[in-house]
Amino acid sequence: MNTRVRFAPSPTGPLHIGGVRTALYNYLFAKKNNGTFLLRIEDTDQTRFVEGAEAYIVEAFKWLGLTFDEGVGIGGAHGPYRQSERKALYKPYAEQLVRDGWAYYAFDTAEELDAKRKEAEAEKKTFQYDANTRMGMVNSLTLPAEEVTRRLESGDHYVIRFKYPDNVDIHVHDLIRGEVVINSSLLDDKVLYKSDGMPTYHLANIVDDHLMEISHVIRGEEWLPFAPLHVMRYKAFGWDAPQFAPLPLLLKPDGNGKLSKRDGDRLGFPVFPLQWHDPKSGETSSGYRESGYLPDAVINMLALLGWNPGNDQEMMTLDELIELFSIDKISKAGAKFSLDKAKWFNHEYILQKSADELYPHFAKILADKGISTEESYIKSVIDLIKERLNFLGDFWDQASYFFVAPTEYDPQALKKRWKEGTGEKLRAIDSILTSIQPFDKMQAHDAVMKHIQDNELNMGQVLNSLRIALVGTAKGPELFTIIELLGVDEVVRRVERAIGVIEAGQ
Ligand code: GLU
Repeated sequence: MNTRVRFAPSPTGPLHIGGVRTALYNYLFAKKNNGTFLLRIEDTDQTRFVEGAEAYIVEAFKWLGLTFDEGVGIGGAHGPYRQSERKALYKPYAEQLVRDGWAYYAFDTAEELDAKRKEAEAEKKTFQYDANTRMGMVNSLTLPAEEVTRRLESGDHYVIRFKYPDNVDIHVHDLIRGEVVINSSLLDDKVLYKSDGMPTYHLANIVDDHLMEISHVIRGEEWLPFAPLHVMRYKAFGWDAPQFAPLPLLLKPDGNGKLSKRDGDRLGFPVFPLQWHDPKSGETSSGYRESGYLPDAVINMLALLGWNPGNDQEMMTLDELIELFSIDKISKAGAKFSLDKAKWFNHEYILQKSADELYPHFAKILADKGISTEESYIKSVIDLIKERLNFLGDFWDQASYFFVAPTEYDPQALKKRWKEGTGEKLRAIDSILTSIQPFDKMQAHDAVMKHIQDNELNMGQVLNSLRIALVGTAKGPELFTIIELLGVDEVVRRVERAIGVIEAGQ
């Protein structure tokens, strides 16, 4: 049997990174097994439809570099892949279940259902439409056949509900948990179809998995409560069920509950792949892309939230992940999100990238600031400072002085390093640097060191005050490399400017 898996998001808003992880595991599993990875958009619930959400999903996967083989925007032999475009095909399946005694028409009005709920509440119970209550309700099991036909023909509002057989043990087998047994009497008769012409998730999802020949359903654990329903419906239709793999939840950093957007806001990390502007509330939520993460770092980090290769290996390319991925190494326990880990991965991926690969990101940051400089200069700066970056956006903080001279100087550093006479000492260093023609970094270093020794100067003070003049703070990479990159003329200009500003303020 061919391996065919699907990612089936509902376009109800931006994609949570838990959803991205679900898609990633499906992708890895498909690639590992030479299978097909398809994108199906589950948009039957019109009340939750959000403008722009589908385009967002497509763009997010484009950014992540995860490509679908079949589906919305790509096509394939099992289309259409948007459920709203498949609307007409679901009704006959619901009717088939009614005919075969696996489902029934229910005509209860919202008020009637509400009254039942209140009645149950008064007895401190929860109302459930199920084997125990269905015979007391208004449906095709309790109404005479002619009345049912009359109601259907006159266009009365109805729903089709699944009818569990009473008191049978349903065996649910999944690839992560093994076998679980649930008694049908505990389960409520889920609505499969509504007379407004729309199927619910519970019908459309399995009809489509069947018609699209899905072999493995890999989805979030939050769908686990519906597993018995799925199993029973495959039985009712007489179809072979796919294999199920419910993925562990993605938890808050402290492990207390599901990771939510609010945790991201509170703790300062994105929970969406791309920035999202909500059309209704007008609220903007941050995204990994805009926060300066590299897509391969995000993929690597997510892959390890709920799976591991069976050893301590952490850094893995997408190809390695495909090679190593297996469902039996997916954990049962929820995976705690860690901002430190996310940062660490991103830092490691930035380090691994060449200046050529990083150049477009940083050239854009510079262009946005109106700075255009030679590409080779920018690349030399990148090589020098990339080890200091956790996020792409840290570039400006760490490297701005390579592009604009500092105008302010860190007061604490000044207090410690800039003494009376410092200006004169720096001018002397300038002359040494200027005298080395053509400039040579090692030669400059040795000459300056010799000068410091010969004149018994305080090395820390001289070199750090020079650094403050060039960088604005006492931080940054090796000083003579900074001098080499800036060029001696610029060094001299910056020293003069620093002397002017600092000594005027003293
Ligand atoms: N449309 C469902 C969702 O948004 C699909 C769940 C599934 O994969 O079956 O999560």
